[in-house]
Amino acid sequence: MTDNTVSTPDQLRQRFEAVEQRIQQATAACQRETDSVELLAVSKTRSSEEIRALAALGQRMFGENYLQEAISKIEQLAELNLCWHFIGRIQSNKTRPIAEHFDWVHSVASLKHATRLSQQRPEGMSPLNICLQVNTSGEASKDGHSPEELAQLLPAYQQLDRIIVRGLMTIPAPVAETEDPKQSLKLLHILRDQLKTADNPLNTLSMGMSDDLEDAICEGSTIVRIGTAIFGPRNYN
Ligand SMILES: *Cc1c(COP(=O)(O)O)cnc(C)c1O
Repeated sequence: MTDNTVSTPDQLRQRFEAVEQRIQQATAACQRETDSVELLAVSKTRSSEEIRALAALGQRMFGENYLQEAISKIEQLAELNLCWHFIGRIQSNKTRPIAEHFDWVHSVASLKHATRLSQQRPEGMSPLNICLQVNTSGEASKDGHSPEELAQLLPAYQQLDRIIVRGLMTIPAPVAETEDPKQSLKLLHILRDQLKTADNPLNTLSMGMSDDLEDAICEGSTIVRIGTAIFGPRNYN
């Protein structure tokens, strides 16, 4: 599947601690509470053993992009009671397994998908937490609602029974390819402030990856999604 170099437990611990320190320093630097930012460890392409090693260090939230791969890890690690977040592209015919296996979905960008997720969420489970993905960079290839579309559709999302709209998510254009890397982050923050209501404060801002977590935290991120800085570089094959 991949030829990632598997990290030793020691390497993982060092990188994990370095990421936790970056988060702490960034929250302090912009006068936010230390525990106002959660770390989502993005474990796509990573083995169950690597996830287990990180869980042993206290990490609970893991993010996955590819459904088959994710489900097999979720099943292998079931006894650890980890919190699983789906952050990948959603296919219409794959909403049921997402609704059945995950606690959160960050990448919801279609009311049709959300309706299916709500209908397919098993009765015995708590409602599915979702973030609505916003295309803040305007790139044609990016998933996500435009800000205007989102404003229009939000009430319909909020009426779905078995999902809870927790907030907004974005994937900015790569830092190297943007003039102002903070622009997408700022836009998501502003948009949330415009759309929040007393009934739904849209508390979650899912933004910030290995390269821009400091900027994201200063723009109000509450969940940073970190893969490479914890697990090392990914090789897809
Ligand atoms: C892979 C991925 C990440 C993690 O990116 P890194 O640069 O490795 O930290 C975050 N969010 C999404 C949606 C991803 O697909």
